[in-house]
Amino acid sequence: MKISNPYNKQGIWLRGSFHNHTTNSDGHHPLSTVYRMYHDYDFLGISDHDLITPHEGERTIPTVFEAIEVSSSQTHMLLVNPPASLMEGYSNEFTISNYQRLSDLCIENNGLSILAHPNRFFSHYWRHEDILSMKRFNGIEVVNGDGNPEYDIAFDKWDFLLSSGRKVWGFGNDDSHVYGQEKRAWNMVLAADNTNASILSAIREGSFYVSTGYGIDAVRVEEDQITFDLRSSPLYDNMYKYVTLFGKEGRILHEETGKIKQVKYTCTGDEGYIRMAVYLEGGFGAFSQPLFVEA
Ligand SMILES: [Zn+2]
Ligand SMILES: [Zn+2]
Repeated sequence: MKISNPYNKQGIWLRGSFHNHTTNSDGHHPLSTVYRMYHDYDFLGISDHDLITPHEGERTIPTVFEAIEVSSSQTHMLLVNPPASLMEGYSNEFTISNYQRLSDLCIENNGLSILAHPNRFFSHYWRHEDILSMKRFNGIEVVNGDGNPEYDIAFDKWDFLLSSGRKVWGFGNDDSHVYGQEKRAWNMVLAADNTNASILSAIREGSFYVSTGYGIDAVRVEEDQITFDLRSSPLYDNMYKYVTLFGKEGRILHEETGKIKQVKYTCTGDEGYIRMAVYLEGGFGAFSQPLFVEA
């Protein structure tokens, strides 16, 4: 049996969000205010609608990313680290060929292509057939914090894609437009160091998880067994936790609750993939990337 483990590496955990707006599009605050909203983040992306906002001015955030939200009236796509040439003849028209072309340009620039808030039912909704028609992208936003926390959640679509054999990662982003939307969802990246290149490379390999307030210390694989070390501290260790391991088609492989610090699972070989979701009592969560299992 072969089990892929994207967390099997040395590095430091870095916290950041790639999807945030300024007054350059429909955000309520200028770039300088957005920097202050996220002053203690390790990295931050600014992704205005259909334009690339340049980074400028004072900030305490060590690493910043240029980004753009391709914003047709149908679907939205987040491109992180796009080349400047993306804007030559730019159009946000939603056709698979246009979106794929923009996605390819960004990926070829060592950037990331992420389908944004795919379950936003009232608008900007990604249909299953459209997602499957996109051949090359890095992942989807499984948690988007933009004011619709009850349905800007897309774990079902992630399981659908993973079960269709697509190796795509889950992202968590605030999609912040106004005070109060910051720090609802973010990515914790296990990177060699805090540089643009290390963060992008770690994410391409799946060495990150999504957090809405809780964490994962480590994920280890020994023979057929996977061990998830939940974030531990004297405080956390005393809190009740709800852990679920999901496999292909969203099948529940294992559930465990209690004041636990660690979850172990022995693979049988037919899981397809295994991803872990943990909630602290109170609802704060952490969501691992899938570990792929080959019999
Ligand atoms: Zn959007
Ligand atoms: Zn947005």
